[in-house]
Amino acid sequence: MKQIISIVFSVILVSCSSTRSGKVTQGESQDQLILSTLWYQKSAEMRALYYQCFRTAEIALAENLAWAGRTKPAAVVLDIDETLLDNSPFQGWQVLEKKSFNNDDWFRWVELARARPLPGAVEFTRYSDSLGVEVFYVSNRTVEEMGPTIENMAAWGFVNTDSTHMLLKETTSSKVERRSLIEKDYEILLLVGDNLADHSGAYEKRGPDHGFAAVDADRRLFGTKYIVLPNPMYGTWLNDLLRSAPGATERERLVRLLETF
Ligand SMILES: [Mg+2]
Repeated sequence: MKQIISIVFSVILVSCSSTRSGKVTQGESQDQLILSTLWYQKSAEMRALYYQCFRTAEIALAENLAWAGRTKPAAVVLDIDETLLDNSPFQGWQVLEKKSFNNDDWFRWVELARARPLPGAVEFTRYSDSLGVEVFYVSNRTVEEMGPTIENMAAWGFVNTDSTHMLLKETTSSKVERRSLIEKDYEILLLVGDNLADHSGAYEKRGPDHGFAAVDADRRLFGTKYIVLPNPMYGTWLNDLLRSAPGATERERLVRLLETF
């Protein structure tokens, strides 16, 4: 009987377990997040990488702006979470509380408006603005989260923190339509984000090669039109991995994916 209960419990865990899918898995260890979250919070390498990416973004933006032949005003498109705002305290909380990502707890965190800006992020939006480039934020925070998001970002001095420049998620996670909306009136010179889908719809669905071929094909766009920031804690890369591996817990599934010798 004990065994049956344990199997049933495992099945429930598997069916509920998800990363940023909105469902809650209570009591499942989130220890797989410890190392990535600590790296994000405590490594000087992480700070250096953010400065490096935003400096590269500045150079690329100035170069792209100098190109002749534009018929529309210039714009940059930035993601928000783990691009401009640091939500790693939420991941830390998940580890301590043993709770997988879920929308209710996430909303409680967003409502606090307490996320700190990432290194170089505020300065990059101000630099873009100083060049006369329109700054847009395309994020999968929901439209219900607009108020606290504006409050949080305005407090740190990000430019254009208003509902005109913030295109949040209404129904679909795909950012393609929202980018098209901007492109009606602007030419997007640069896209900055921690998830490849922040840059192009081509990366939304990754095949068995994890999207490697698509990235190889676009290699010349990285550092020139696409700026990618590091996020080892979550993202499409992880969702796809978890979907592809069997196992009772996230940890079990992740361990099975490791390459060894
Ligand atoms: Mg993000």
